[in-house]
Amino acid sequence: MSERTLSIIKPDAVAKGVIGQIIADFEANGLQIAAMKMIRMSKRVAQGFYAVHRERPFFDSLTDFMSSGPAVVMVLSGDNAIAKNRELMGATNPAEAAEGTLRKRFATDIEKNAVHGSDAPETARTEIAYFFPELEIVNEK
Ligand code: ADP
Ligand code: MG
Repeated sequence: MSERTLSIIKPDAVAKGVIGQIIADFEANGLQIAAMKMIRMSKRVAQGFYAVHRERPFFDSLTDFMSSGPAVVMVLSGDNAIAKNRELMGATNPAEAAEGTLRKRFATDIEKNAVHGSDAPETARTEIAYFFPELEIVNEK
């Protein structure tokens, strides 16, 4: 069954010039770009997006990073899109990410780890709605 997930190419990966390589990986693995835009998050928008992590020691640094430059936000769609995207991303800490995963290939460290992906259907719904009104989701599989 086709499913939606939110993907973000984080500011570190945009700065490294690997937007195209990351998107190529999604497309080659059956994840269709249903919606996409480049944005520059304000600190407040980053704090809202990562609100579940507000008590964590890295919250301030993480939201500084996420608002430090442009990011690409996308809705990916396809069979099992949430799990498939998480698999392509690899572990949060690139030191633990499997060979060939996006974080192994492109992350700098556990914070500047190149990509975001929703972790469950409910979070996918709220994360997609945070960035995309329904009328901007124009190419769903
Ligand atoms: P994931 O992005 O793999 O779902 P989490 O939801 O646990 O990981 O964390 C959200 C984001 O917070 C991570 O992608 C990373 O950018 C940052 N982060 C997580 N753990 C740490 C940490 N120990 N130190 C610094 N930043 C972290
Ligand atoms: Mg997470």
